[in-house]
Amino acid sequence: MRFIPYGLHWIDDLDIEEVVKVLKSDWIVMGNRVKEFEDAVCSYVGARYGVAVNSGTAALDVAMNSLGLGEGEAITTPLTFVATAHAILYAGLRPVFADIQRDTFNIDPVDVERKVTDRTRAIVCVDFAGHPCDIDEIRRIADEHGLKVVEDAAHALGAEYRGKKVGSLADVTIFSFHPVKHITTGEGGMCVTDSEELAERMRILRNQGAESSAMERFGPGGRWTYDVRMLGRNYRMTDFQAALGLSQLRKLESFIRRREEIARIYIEELSGLPGIELPAVRTCVRHAWHIFTILVGEGIGRDEFIASLRRKGIGAAVHYTPVYRFTYYRERFGFRPEDFPVTEDVASRIVTIPLFPRMSDEDVKRVVQAVKETVGELRR
Ligand SMILES: *Cc1c(COP(=O)(O)O)cnc(C)c1O
Repeated sequence: MRFIPYGLHWIDDLDIEEVVKVLKSDWIVMGNRVKEFEDAVCSYVGARYGVAVNSGTAALDVAMNSLGLGEGEAITTPLTFVATAHAILYAGLRPVFADIQRDTFNIDPVDVERKVTDRTRAIVCVDFAGHPCDIDEIRRIADEHGLKVVEDAAHALGAEYRGKKVGSLADVTIFSFHPVKHITTGEGGMCVTDSEELAERMRILRNQGAESSAMERFGPGGRWTYDVRMLGRNYRMTDFQAALGLSQLRKLESFIRRREEIARIYIEELSGLPGIELPAVRTCVRHAWHIFTILVGEGIGRDEFIASLRRKGIGAAVHYTPVYRFTYYRERFGFRPEDFPVTEDVASRIVTIPLFPRMSDEDVKRVVQAVKETVGELRR
């Protein structure tokens, strides 16, 4: 019985050819392909400037640091990958969690507003599972209190909110190109923004704080001195990764359409199944379906549910353990789970079932069948 993971990349021979071309050339790092990839992502999402880096986590770090927020707090969602909250700490800020919405599992603007203080500097929102967060409300709160908005759109490349692509909505938006995400460069990420000034700072921050690129320094006629005015890192993406990203990007729309199709089948097949709640999709969005999550109820134990699916060869997973529950965050900040009732309820019942473009119809049927059988076994 073949194991079906919850997510998987799809790299074909065309992708591989593009990578090999770069590997055989003189510029395997910081050549032209990185810039081309940045421009291609920007034109797809409708942003002006892109800064490619070597992970989504690096993108979050560079985005937060480019904003020059000083000391204070940033408000974020606890139902996210830990990198979102880590980035707040990297920037020297204190993470403050707001509870989530019952329907979308995204950060709840009502609770954000409650948690704004005179120490708040930024809101870091996440488009959970690929469903855009309530960015209009978040923007309104941010503008009212003079806060910056960073959107962690690691799940949401291709998603839309009121007809506009995610990537054109926040001060800085970040994407991840990890193999489970919509398109992959192995490891990789990108920041996009409409601000020329932020883009320039982000380019400097990804490159040790040095104020000229390797191409400018080592290319023909290059400058051979440079100044350093910021504490940057080496977060550079390679050109062979960018070549892979460019090739993958051409297939993004077909990948998303296949994700939409699988999500539609799950919703059709599993709706009305007792003990299972399906994800909500608001009418004003295009969901990018990075993951498909269900909530189990009616006495079904979540951990047993996952164990049973795994015995059937289905790679069920949990997204996520709320960040405030991790030892590092608990010990350092003393967060109390009872302060986040919706997150606690959702996180104790949520299960991710497999969803990726390369799944066959047969795979999708196997997942549906396994979920139905498991509900039958476990429901009390
Ligand atoms: C994947 C992910 C990241 C980090 O991306 P990496 O490329 O793995 O560093 C950040 N935030 C969220 C919500 C993610 O899902």
